[in-house]
Amino acid sequence: MINKRYEAMLSEKDVIFEIFDYATQQIAKVGEDKVYNFSLGNPSVPAPATVNEAIIRNVREVDPLKLHSYSPGKGLPLAREAMAAGLNKRYGSHYCGDNIFMTVSASGALAHAFRAVAEPGDEILTFAPCFSEYVPYTAGAGLKLKVVPADTETFQINFEAAEAMLTPEVSAVLVNSPNNPSGIVYSTETIQRLAALLRDKAAAFGHPIYLISDEPYRDIVFTGVDSPYIANFYENTLTCYSFSKSLSIPGERIGYLAVNPECEGAATIIDICPQISRTLGFNGAAGLMQRVVAETCLDTADLSVYEKNMRLLYDTLTDCGFTCVRPGGTFYMFPKSLEPDDFAFCEKAKTLNLMLVPGSIFGCPGHFRIAYCVPTEKVEAALPVFRQLAALYK
Ligand code: PLP
Repeated sequence: MINKRYEAMLSEKDVIFEIFDYATQQIAKVGEDKVYNFSLGNPSVPAPATVNEAIIRNVREVDPLKLHSYSPGKGLPLAREAMAAGLNKRYGSHYCGDNIFMTVSASGALAHAFRAVAEPGDEILTFAPCFSEYVPYTAGAGLKLKVVPADTETFQINFEAAEAMLTPEVSAVLVNSPNNPSGIVYSTETIQRLAALLRDKAAAFGHPIYLISDEPYRDIVFTGVDSPYIANFYENTLTCYSFSKSLSIPGERIGYLAVNPECEGAATIIDICPQISRTLGFNGAAGLMQRVVAETCLDTADLSVYEKNMRLLYDTLTDCGFTCVRPGGTFYMFPKSLEPDDFAFCEKAKTLNLMLVPGSIFGCPGHFRIAYCVPTEKVEAALPVFRQLAALYK
């Protein structure tokens, strides 16, 4: 019998891909230049030359038997050590290779983190607005996802609601800063307050509360924005990182899980990750890419286009009547929709061939997401169309 649960997922609406498909149809009808597709979070800049150079060098210089062999379950020691050294250099942390587990990108790191620190039936607490894939990620691990309503004035944490929802059933709290979809970076004050809350609650409940920090956008932070390294503030932190966005290599599927050396059960968490991989049915991140990121983990693609695009959009949108919290990083922004029904608003935008994503799918109705990982010329061409959209509500 075919599995009913996964079969049922086929009929669930994938809002983002529906919008993307509609954009593709419109491009065929009216031409690429008349369609403004801000639906997908796919990096729009090439990987840095160092990535291709490292691939070529490894293919040329490493014994092919070694290069293409199985890597150890936790990852190649050279990659794990390079990740630890890179983090320590950037953030003054104290990781060693033994605190690192190499993964299939951030999604692979999250899959392991959830299973390492929570049992089926436990709750995971996260904060709106949040990445829509957290729903299947947690459901797949048998966990219940509880979403704290957003503080829509700042998109920092709504602590009043968080405190009420942080009950003994919560095994881990999941944060994502810089954030998809708001583009907001948590301030030092927010992280300190969250750490204090977790410590208090853990003491009251008599069990640790882990912090799972999903950080695929950690390197896309705009000028003048302070982006604290979250694990430095709370010992029980599992950091999930990906090179998909920083190196612009989402198709290569490479990242890592870093467990704070001070974390309760740090060694066991890393030790059980390869066992978790066995239950997931795949074993280990691709060996060649582990070698490549070991050499390039301190590099990034030229990410400056995202800040340029953000400034153009933010200035125009706020000028023509939109309300928006200014993004501190990523390639997303999350303004208020001009009518309460964000789906209706995005449908209206579609009539102008402007493809936007309703905020409801990120747990935050009344807003919409703009993914501005597109060429700047496309953003410039879209600015009058955003003005046209605003004019429809005047
Ligand atoms: N977490 C967030 C917030 C994301 O936006 C994404 C991808 O867009 C992921 C995790 C998964 O990314 P990947 O598995 O490519 O690293």
